[in-house]
Amino acid sequence: MILHGDLDAFYAGVAQRDDASLRGKPLVVAGASRRAVVLTASYEARPFGILSAMPLYQAKSRCPELVVVPPDFAKYRQASQALFAILHEHASAVEGLSLDEAFCELGDATVAEALDAGRKIKDAVKEAVALSISIGIASGKMVAKIASDDAKPDGLRAVAPGTEAEYLKDKPIRRLWGIGPKTEERVRAKGLERIGQIAELSDDVLYELFGRWGAELRDLARGIDHRGVNDSEAVRSISSEETFEHDVAGIAGLLPFVRSQADQLAERLKQRMLRASTVAVKIKLSDRTIIGRQTSLAQPTDDPRIINAAARFCLRRAALHRPVRLIGVRVASLAPAGARQIALFS
Ligand SMILES: [Mg+2]
Repeated sequence: MILHGDLDAFYAGVAQRDDASLRGKPLVVAGASRRAVVLTASYEARPFGILSAMPLYQAKSRCPELVVVPPDFAKYRQASQALFAILHEHASAVEGLSLDEAFCELGDATVAEALDAGRKIKDAVKEAVALSISIGIASGKMVAKIASDDAKPDGLRAVAPGTEAEYLKDKPIRRLWGIGPKTEERVRAKGLERIGQIAELSDDVLYELFGRWGAELRDLARGIDHRGVNDSEAVRSISSEETFEHDVAGIAGLLPFVRSQADQLAERLKQRMLRASTVAVKIKLSDRTIIGRQTSLAQPTDDPRIINAAARFCLRRAALHRPVRLIGVRVASLAPAGARQIALFS
């Protein structure tokens, strides 16, 4: 499960939070120059057709009583830090998209557990920074983001696994990731307006319309989206290595060390509630040559026996033409072990 959270009208929300006289008023946050553009429009300004990135003079012409507030980036950074600290408490990985928007990895959470996490995040954000956040939950990133947009403002929306295509089918095609205004125009000219129509296109038509990218787009239209949450701060790998006082000749002498390293790595994976899909060995020979070998596992694991077997496999593929000075095992391609981490934080 993936959760997408996005503060509502962030900059405008901060202005209205800190100055009660601005609440309920059409307001934009924008710079002072003559060519300034709208950074954020409050919800009260949106019925006038005022959107972010619109030139300020145009926004003013649409709404003469529009209040213009200068940005305050120190406040935004402060709120952003509080938001991300809260998200990290509820997710095993957090991928920030901007100061006020992020994807969160919820592992194998059920819809009910994910909704519970969503409610807790909303409450904690209100408590910490007095701002509202909208949250979407789904099995994939795109649908989670679309759901949080649909939930705005101050909403919480989950799309149950298996219902993604149904959820998307009547929405306009521009809401699919990767459909820009030009592509939209071209595709609409062919009579395709709704995401459900893209989901049903044949391979030939897909290729004609979108080229090599067509199949991926149709998957997205069907709600199939396997991209994971990329936590920039996440642990990328865990390793254990040992340098010998006396060089060890031959594989047999190395196996006990590999086994003990596999045990340690499995223990560290369990502590962090992670599983690894890649196992690698590093070998330094007596002439200081370094040899690396790695293998991918069919299933992510934290089982010491599987890590040991994979490391032995790598070791046998390395040509050890000299005695060995150092042996190390590393596990990588780490992913959260499952829903247990959610229980831990709730
Ligand atoms: Mg936002």
